[in-house]
Formats: sequence, structure tokens, C-alpha cells
Amino acid sequence: VLLPPQVVGQRSETVRRSNLSAIVRALHLRGPLSRSQLVRHTGLTRSAVRGLIGELVSGGLLTETPNEPDGAPGRPSPIVHPDAEGAAVIALEINVDSLAAAHVGFGGTVRKLVRVDRPRAHVTADEIASDLAKLARPMFRMASQADALVGIGVAVAGIVRRSDGMVRLAPNLGWRDTPIGHRLAGALRSDLPMAIANESDLGGLAEHRRGAAIGESNVIYVSGEVGVGGNIIVDGQPLIGAAGYAGEIGHMIVDPGGAPCACGSSGCWETEIGERAMLLRAGRRANGGPAAVDELIAAAMAGEPAASASVARVGKWLGIGLASLVNVFNPTLVVLGGVLGRIHPLVADELASTLEQRSLTAARQLVRVTPAALGVNAPIIGAAELAFEPMLADPACLLAPVRATRSAMASA
Ligand SMILES: [Zn+2]
Repeated sequence: VLLPPQVVGQRSETVRRSNLSAIVRALHLRGPLSRSQLVRHTGLTRSAVRGLIGELVSGGLLTETPNEPDGAPGRPSPIVHPDAEGAAVIALEINVDSLAAAHVGFGGTVRKLVRVDRPRAHVTADEIASDLAKLARPMFRMASQADALVGIGVAVAGIVRRSDGMVRLAPNLGWRDTPIGHRLAGALRSDLPMAIANESDLGGLAEHRRGAAIGESNVIYVSGEVGVGGNIIVDGQPLIGAAGYAGEIGHMIVDPGGAPCACGSSGCWETEIGERAMLLRAGRRANGGPAAVDELIAAAMAGEPAASASVARVGKWLGIGLASLVNVFNPTLVVLGGVLGRIHPLVADELASTLEQRSLTAARQLVRVTPAALGVNAPIIGAAELAFEPMLADPACLLAPVRATRSAMASA
């Protein structure tokens, strides 16, 4: 039997590119580091780090400043900073209750973010694309040089095919098989590379990189809004699935005889722990939106019986669904986003006792539950991370000769 050749050697150019990527990624995620810290974080030699930093400084991606003397012999190691103006992305968010646009610099610096509320109604993709383009226009003008922008990331409250940004289903926007990527590219009149993904996937990515789950390798993120979404991180990598549809934990069936769900099925987790169910059971209008949710949470905190009972029921069903997810994925951390994060202090006991009864002891003993850290902006921060990803994977594309290679990356 002839086995295919095993490629084990790496050409020096491949090594250089992956070492540049290690440095750029470390600075993007951790912020300014001394050269010595970069040596520790990347495992590269001092002289390799010095050479690569030199390339990245002259390429406009990094700056260096002298370090304070620390008492150790010899000159202190300079501090290396990611330059937020050297590379940047535009991040956009299409949510059920709002639209948002941001300009985010290398290193994760949010330089400008604008969010506008929108009425909860079905709208066409063209209308949304045109509103979002207006919101994003000042973000494009902020770039200090035309080629500092490296991409656009978009978070959408729907099920998104990653390959072309097709929204397969967004029940709360009224979209089915809506090519929002094409519409947005037209409205923005931009040929920058654009990546589009589900808002909960991106919220989870943001919490993992910059929020409550930094440093954790196995995480379940559950976010409750009008819809319930999530993201599952396994061995440090977000679970995407074959086309980008993985992590739709809101549509995990928890009660076959349960209420009808916006997805067309019934008894989904969303019908028990989603915003609408919580409002309805507390005697509020199911479609009351953010104001109604604020009022309900305040009432539950004040001990109003109907509000408290409804929130407690969410806690119980949250535990039932999480018990299965904990058994299946063996995470060390569960992060609760959106409304679920806000009610966590009210439901922590109910949730803990349900997990106690329903999940396997071995898995449960390793898991901690915590509210999300980034609040309402988690998805748009995740969208920025998604847009930065090609640059983090191969920053050599941005180095000299700058313009020629940047346009090559855009067309890749
Ligand atoms: Zn469903």
C-alpha cells in the first residue's frame, strides 16, 4: 500500500509567517507586552523576536517604547504595542432591537461604536443594509490611511451560512434565505473582505477572547434575548459545524409536548427560557421588548410574586438544558449572556440545584457558571474579532510592499 507523502519539513518562509502570526496574535489578545514577555508567550528565541518585531514596526503594525528600569542588570526590555491605527476593521451588528457599527483597531481597541434602537418588526434586507451603511459611514472615514482597514465583520441574529453570508433563517427579522452579505457589500460600496456569522457565535467568541472566559478551553456560552443562542468552545476552538450552523442550543428540544417555537418546531429550550416565555408567564406582553424586560427584572428583584415565579421557572429550565450540555461537552465554564446573565443572581440557587439533580456528578464537579462580562456589545466585539482573523493568521500579507499585498489579501 502506498501512503501519501508526509510533509514534515517547513520552508523558512512558512516558518517566518507563522512566527509573525504568533507575535501579532499575542499582542492583539493580550495588549502591550515587553520583548521578554513575547519571548515567553511565543516560545521563540530573543533574536527571532527582535527581527520579527523590527519587520512589524516598519510595516506600521507595532510601536515600541522604552521600558522603566526594573532593577535587573542590563537594559530593560522595550514594550511592544499593537498600533490601533496600523490595522483596523469595521464591525456591524444586525439585532432584533438594534443596529450597531464600530471601528475597532488592532489590539481590540474600540475606537468608535454607535448603536441605534430599531422597532421590532420585519424589514427587508435592503432596508437594513441601507440603514447600516449610513451608520457605518463615519467608521470608514476614521481610518488614518486608506489601507489600514483589513476587513468587515457582521453579527446577525439568525442562522448564517459562513461561506457566503446567506442568512438561512432569522425568524425575528422575518428573513429566510436572505443574502445579506451581497446586500451589505452593495450598500457599503466596499470591496473589503467581509465575514458574517450568527450573533451568539460571535458573542461567545468575544467572551472567550476578551470577556468572562479568557483562558478557558472548554466553554458553553448561552445567551438569552428574544431568541436563545449559544456557542460551544471545545479545546479552545469554537464549534462551527459543517456550514456554520452549530451551537443552536436554543432549539434543543427539552419538552416534546411544549409550546410552538419560532423555528417551526415545538418544545425548544427557547420556548422555556427565552424572553417571550419569561414575559408571558409573568403576565406581561410577550413582545414588550427591552423596556418590558427591564421592568420584569426589576419587579422580580423587588419580589413581585408573578415576576419572581416566572424568573424562577427560567432558572429551573436553564438548569435542565444545561445539565445535558454539561454531560455532553464537559466544560469548565458556562457563561450566561443577555437576559440570562442579568437574572443569574436571582436564579443561581435554582440553577445549581437542578444541575445537581440532573447532570452527571463527574462533569458537574468541574463546571462553574458565571454571567457574561461584555454585556450587549459582545456580538459586535466578536464580529471585529472575526474580521481580524485573516490578518492574525497571516500578518505577512500586510507587510511591505504594503499596497500590493493588501489588495492580494482582499481578493483571496
Ligand atoms: Zn426552536
